Amino acid sequence: IDRINKKISKGAKFFSLEFFPARTINGAVNLLARFERMGAGKPLFCDITWHPAGDPGNVDKPTSSTCMAMSMLNYSGLETMLHITCADQDLDTLKANLHTAKSLGIRNLLALRGDPPEGKENWKYQDGGLNYASDLVKLIRDEFGDYFVICVAGYPTGHPESESYEEDLQNLKKKVDAGADFIITQLFFKAETFIKFLKDCRDIGIECPIIPGLLPIQAYQSLRHIVKLSRLEVPQEILDDINPIKDNDEAIRNYGVDMTVKMARELFETGYIHGLHFYTLNREVATIEILKRLGMWCEDPWKPLPWKPTANCKRME
Ligand code: FAD
Repeated sequence: IDRINKKISKGAKFFSLEFFPARTINGAVNLLARFERMGAGKPLFCDITWHPAGDPGNVDKPTSSTCMAMSMLNYSGLETMLHITCADQDLDTLKANLHTAKSLGIRNLLALRGDPPEGKENWKYQDGGLNYASDLVKLIRDEFGDYFVICVAGYPTGHPESESYEEDLQNLKKKVDAGADFIITQLFFKAETFIKFLKDCRDIGIECPIIPGLLPIQAYQSLRHIVKLSRLEVPQEILDDINPIKDNDEAIRNYGVDMTVKMARELFETGYIHGLHFYTLNREVATIEILKRLGMWCEDPWKPLPWKPTANCKRME
């Protein structure tokens, strides 16, 4: 069976879906039902974000992200990618988490540095520690060879901590040179932002697939929260459009669907990309609507039940 990096490179249209782990048992049950419904549209893969604060994990106790990824893979039968961060993480714990992911059958990782944990804003890189995502990519390749497909994050407007956009591009190249297979980008608000970034990456010799990360705007407050976290600026014309409808969730969601469909069409028209990555925020209505309008939602009523044999699946306590 082809690994996802091979499938991404093949040139057929595809989409992928990002989720974050649920915080409660009820939330996890709801999320599993959502994987089932969204898996029916046949994403190429789905991914689960990583949240080390208060949940560092180890070889005996998988993190909630690892558990959710395990369920996504082994219960829902979806091709799964687990995010994993290295900032301020103890090396033994990090390695234990990687071995746990492997023992649960996970074959795809999104390797990130991550942000310094809350309350440790003055966290400084440690000599000899894992300071950047490129160090984590190298560690994974050194310890596991080609077992994992590795994705890394790219920033179409530059990472906020970088001195310059150009410097950040060079740092992105270091991650790819360390062994990453493909890139997913931070969200952006205009197709032209991604197209320029893609061209700039190619110009400095980044040859691997680059998947645009799309955030359908679904609610005013969540947009504000996300741009604050990601330290992004929303273009004034988008603010002008959504400010008058900010208290009407349905109108905002419709606006987000229209905007994302338009942006996706512009991206496809360039002929440079054939896949889209969605930041679903664990919601389904807007993303499914967008995929249907793009003709990419391929629900098949004859899909077999999702049970799949697992690779060395450990019992969860
Ligand atoms: P890096 O690539 O290490 O870059 C961090 C900074 O260091 C950049 O400014 C870069 O230019 C610079 N840099 C990199 N390498 C070098 C070098 N060798 N020398 C000097 N400078 C260097 N966060 C989470 O906590 N959990 C998640 O699940 C998560 N998922 C994400 C998914 C995507 C697609 C994206 C785009 C982001 C995600 N984030 C997540 C946020 C991410 O952790 C932050 O943006 C973080 O600040 C940077 O992580 P990184 O892996 O991009 O870091």
